[in-house]
Amino acid sequence: MNTDYDMIAIGAGSGGLSAVERAAEYGRKCLIIEVKIIGGTCVNVGCVPKKVMWFAANTGSIIKNAKGFGFEVEQKGFSWKKLKVGRDNYIKSITNWYDSYLQKLGIDYIHGFGQLVDKNIVSVNGKEYTAEYIILSSGEEPAVPHIEGSEYGITSDNFFALEALPKKVAVIGGGYIGVELAGVLNALGSEVTLFCRADKLLRGFDSMIQNTLDKDYSSHGITIHHNTQIDKVSKNKTLFTNQGAFTGFDTIIWAVGRNPMTQHLGLKVAGVKCDQKGFIQTDKFQTTNVDNIFALGDVTGRTSLTPVAIAAGRRLSDRLYNNMTDRHLDYNNIATVVFSHPPIGMVGLTEAQANEKFDKIKIYKSEFTPMADALLEHKTTTALKLVCAGDNEKVIGCHIMGHGADEILQGFAMAIKMGVTKKQFDDTIAIHPTISEELVTMR
Ligand SMILES: Cc1cc2nc3c(=O)[nH]c(=O)nc-3n(C[C@H](O)[C@H](O)[C@H](O)COP(=O)(O)OP(=O)(O)OC[C@H]3O[C@@H](n4cnc5c(N)ncnc54)[C@H](O)[C@@H]3O)c2cc1C
Repeated sequence: MNTDYDMIAIGAGSGGLSAVERAAEYGRKCLIIEVKIIGGTCVNVGCVPKKVMWFAANTGSIIKNAKGFGFEVEQKGFSWKKLKVGRDNYIKSITNWYDSYLQKLGIDYIHGFGQLVDKNIVSVNGKEYTAEYIILSSGEEPAVPHIEGSEYGITSDNFFALEALPKKVAVIGGGYIGVELAGVLNALGSEVTLFCRADKLLRGFDSMIQNTLDKDYSSHGITIHHNTQIDKVSKNKTLFTNQGAFTGFDTIIWAVGRNPMTQHLGLKVAGVKCDQKGFIQTDKFQTTNVDNIFALGDVTGRTSLTPVAIAAGRRLSDRLYNNMTDRHLDYNNIATVVFSHPPIGMVGLTEAQANEKFDKIKIYKSEFTPMADALLEHKTTTALKLVCAGDNEKVIGCHIMGHGADEILQGFAMAIKMGVTKKQFDDTIAIHPTISEELVTMR
């Protein structure tokens, strides 16, 4: 088939960029289309700016805690403005780099809204382009509830545009984004109230993690309201809920989920099916019901994480252009981290999930005050759990809350992916004194 391009991707976030980048490395002619800013959610309004804020919050905590180690340190001030300018410049340097990188790989880039016109045709800015393969990588956007006064709140996207540290904030939503933003704002000095519809934060995480997080966040000054449904918001930012009215907030942040960006994408005209929520359905090879159209990343509604979108994009191009006929992403045992304070990491099954799936499971757990906090006034809790299954105690779940959990987990995730057993954990000599040593010495 004679087409303008081998591959066109709609959406230049983690997933779309990875697919065209790998395809171009195999010598294919590619076009990528982006309606907002190249780099997508992760770079512009997700992982990257979030992690910068997390580092800032940690620095604030270190200063506060320094006197426990004998330092006479006084925090003379904190400039949100300076932090924001630094963060924005850092992100700009990444997005600028993309331009030259795409040029180097010979990938064409168009700024505009891409739309399917047919199974091989995409239109953007009034012009049509043809391709053998089309990648739908349009991601998600923050959801805002359909209730009266929802416009008085902002989303995580707008959080990164705030010009000043809010004084009194209501964060609505107990998922990872709500938990992370609440933690950052609390550590930087805002008065934070976290509203959660469920009886626990972080739905889907192990109960040990949920309980420890609740306890730690509360003891560090975050007010948490569980089982709370917001019914209405008034102009003065009063929240009317099933638990009564809450008032006095200068900022309300909706962190109530994310919706797929599939409206107006032209799915119907090209015959691409999506589910009721708008997420595009694919098989394990990222193929939609239309054989030359693929979807990957958040828009598929499966494990919305940057490395997942990247891996899916790269594997797809490996398969299409490098004869790796069975190359696809295995969605099992993908590690995930919540950048709370302290951070949380998990891979594999929770205790509850394992109980449903296996006859014989064994749990190893441990909870303690880490040495790093021993001399501090405000201590955190470290909580660790291994979930093991079968007679050989294969490790099928690992859950960590504590300093360094974000860095500790990666190596353990690899071992679990390789099928490690508890005995192999036991045979590993500990690194002392660390938090991670507890994982290989649990009894
Ligand atoms: C606050 C926050 C924190 C996060 N933190 C982490 C983290 O710590 N670690 C982690 O792994 N993940 C994190 N994520 C998730 C991560 O950002 C996403 O999983 C990842 O960006 C998904 O990549 P994607 O390519 O599927 O979509 P995106 O990165 O969202 O890219 C999709 C792009 O498509 C564009 N687009 C949409 N429709 C069109 C159209 N019709 N035409 C042209 N362009 C279009 C959008 O503008 C967007 O730029 C976070 C997300 C948020 C919101």
